[in-house]
Amino acid sequence: MYDVLSQNIQYLHGVGPRRAQLLNEELGIYTLHDLLYHFPYRYIDRSRIYTVHDLSDGMQYVQLKGRILGYETLGKGSARRIEADFTDGTGYVRLVWFKGLKYVERTLKTGVTYLLLGKPTLFNNRFNIAHPELDVLKDDSSLDGITGLRPVYRVTEKMKRSGLTSGAIEEMVDAVFSQLKGLSIAETLPDYLLSRCHLMGLNDAIRKIHHPESLSVIPSVELRLKFEELFYVQLDVLSYAKDRVIKYRGFRFSRVGDYFMRFYHECLPFELTSAQKRVIREIRHDLGSGRQMNRLLQGDVGSGKTMVSVMTMLIGIDNDYQSCIMAPTEILAEQHCATMQRLLGPIGVRVELLTGTVKGKRRQSVLDGLQDGSIHVLVGTHALLEDTVNFKNLGVAVIDEQHRFGVEQRSRLWLKNEFPPHILVMTATPIPRTLAMTVYGDLDVSVIDELPPGRKQIKTAHFYDKAVEQRVQLVRSEVAKGHQVYFVYPLIKESEKSDLKNLEEGFRQICKQFPDLNVGMLHGKMKPSEKNDVMQSFASGELHLLVSTTVIEVGVDVPNASVMIIENAERFGLAQLHQLRGRVGRGAEQSYCVLVTGYKLSENTRRRVEIMCETTDGFRIAEEDLKLRGPGDLEGTQQSGVIFTFKIANIARDGELLQQAREVARQVVDEDPMHELPQNKILWSQLKLQRKTNTNWAAIS
Ligand code: ADP
Ligand code: MG
Repeated sequence: MYDVLSQNIQYLHGVGPRRAQLLNEELGIYTLHDLLYHFPYRYIDRSRIYTVHDLSDGMQYVQLKGRILGYETLGKGSARRIEADFTDGTGYVRLVWFKGLKYVERTLKTGVTYLLLGKPTLFNNRFNIAHPELDVLKDDSSLDGITGLRPVYRVTEKMKRSGLTSGAIEEMVDAVFSQLKGLSIAETLPDYLLSRCHLMGLNDAIRKIHHPESLSVIPSVELRLKFEELFYVQLDVLSYAKDRVIKYRGFRFSRVGDYFMRFYHECLPFELTSAQKRVIREIRHDLGSGRQMNRLLQGDVGSGKTMVSVMTMLIGIDNDYQSCIMAPTEILAEQHCATMQRLLGPIGVRVELLTGTVKGKRRQSVLDGLQDGSIHVLVGTHALLEDTVNFKNLGVAVIDEQHRFGVEQRSRLWLKNEFPPHILVMTATPIPRTLAMTVYGDLDVSVIDELPPGRKQIKTAHFYDKAVEQRVQLVRSEVAKGHQVYFVYPLIKESEKSDLKNLEEGFRQICKQFPDLNVGMLHGKMKPSEKNDVMQSFASGELHLLVSTTVIEVGVDVPNASVMIIENAERFGLAQLHQLRGRVGRGAEQSYCVLVTGYKLSENTRRRVEIMCETTDGFRIAEEDLKLRGPGDLEGTQQSGVIFTFKIANIARDGELLQQAREVARQVVDEDPMHELPQNKILWSQLKLQRKTNTNWAAIS
């Protein structure tokens, strides 16, 4: 059965090499199976044919039946287009094509009757339909008896230009079904789960999603297909996690010793928040359990994750193991190293730095210290993943701001000791629960949901870029209080010259506006030592203003900075705006964040700005981000190597179903850890098949 559907799409009736290539490249469809899993995103009532007279503004897709009176090619260059007059006797609509003009010219016919599908828009008092789909009707009787719903499939502009329309996909899908004849599509879930969860069979669901007899069946069809999708991701993640528990023993850190105690009682510069204390308890429990810890620590910017990592590493040291902490940027690594040397030096803990710029003798002495065990804590960038970096006995690895690291990089940390070290992953990009479940699989999650006391809520405002005076005033009044200010410019790609020009231009202007203040500039193209110098002079208060790209986005901690001005804020996503804002509000003083934009804003941008002005709650921002952008674009997920390949489920909306699918998957894994039960045979073979073709979700932790 699977064999028929695994056939190459190219050999399906009506496809051929050219179309196959388009399907491969544009939609990732390679086989008949892939085509059947390209689901329609909506349906049109086939029996309903509108008249031009009936059209009203705001209508969605409609079907019209009529003729083309004539057409012409207008405009030049990129404005070239074809316009045609279409009528059905009750009125006229204007059809317009901007793309694929050659194909349209070749195929458009006057004097035949067309069945047209398109979305009318009112323009200059007249309905226009851009890029309609046209099917020639042989004679009127061919419409007789047509009832039911017509599926509408997503196709790209490039496909449309070659005539590969939704209608063409529909024909291909039908060709698959006629090739299948009476054969049914092989079930992917065992019977007992179908009946336990009240799910429709796969064969039914696939046939009905393409050709529903009525819209009322859609919910149960979708339920089945969404469940399957979510369930297999969860089964993947959870069974992988189960294997891990079976395979790996963890180092048991049974005691909390002198280092931890002395630090806690004598060196701690402040009282821990109760959230920090709770998380440290959770971590202590993990470390003593005999299982390898694999914990995600979520805490909003400024919530004090660094201190939690310090205490975790101390427990490692108390048990005669080394620790390391990996940060995504050199600036951050240096900052962490300085903080930890200051905190831990007095109790005799040796902390060293390893980044790409630590070279020669200094590097050798670090490498030696790691091997002979005299270095207790190594702070670094991804440089510490290199093969030449060998520990005597690495017991705890902390990964800070983890969304910057890829899966592969993280997994290399595991190999730094005979048994993998305990892993603590810290992130300030809060992730909605549903997403965390999917992306992080069976990572245990701790949350710091409390800020250190005395912090004032950051005030956020939206200024237009023309309102220069407003910005100047704010900067002046804050600097007069002895505070410092960040100006951030977007830099999409560090290599883009135009962006750098943007930053340099901004820097010049700011220098002109504030001739009496010390202004520094920071960007990713600078040498590490230059970056470090600028950062140092800002941290020491020598510079009043820092004009920067997003290199300061992550982790940088200068509590005296009280204003964050984000230029071209429309070019940043919500998560990034939130990260940037988190650079201020780290001291006891009132802080401000200003989002500067032009006058013209898209709906989406306006919403982002509103949300930022409304709330500083990172979890809320993450939820809103998920809603606005969809999971595929969510910050962090792309970098972390997770490609969201959901075809029908939407984790922003299907959270409840996800939860349910996860529960069922957990039961299966618990009941059948060794994959032996006959009733689950179908599940494990399906999982194997999917692991071959899909992203390995579970390996991500
Ligand atoms: P993040 O969670 O963003 O990494 P940091 O660990 O950089 O936050 O902490 C932010 C600031 O708050 C630092 O200056 C840190 O010293 C301070 N801090 C952390 N915990 C506390 C606390 N319990 N009380 C007061 N200040 C704290
Ligand atoms: Mg941090």
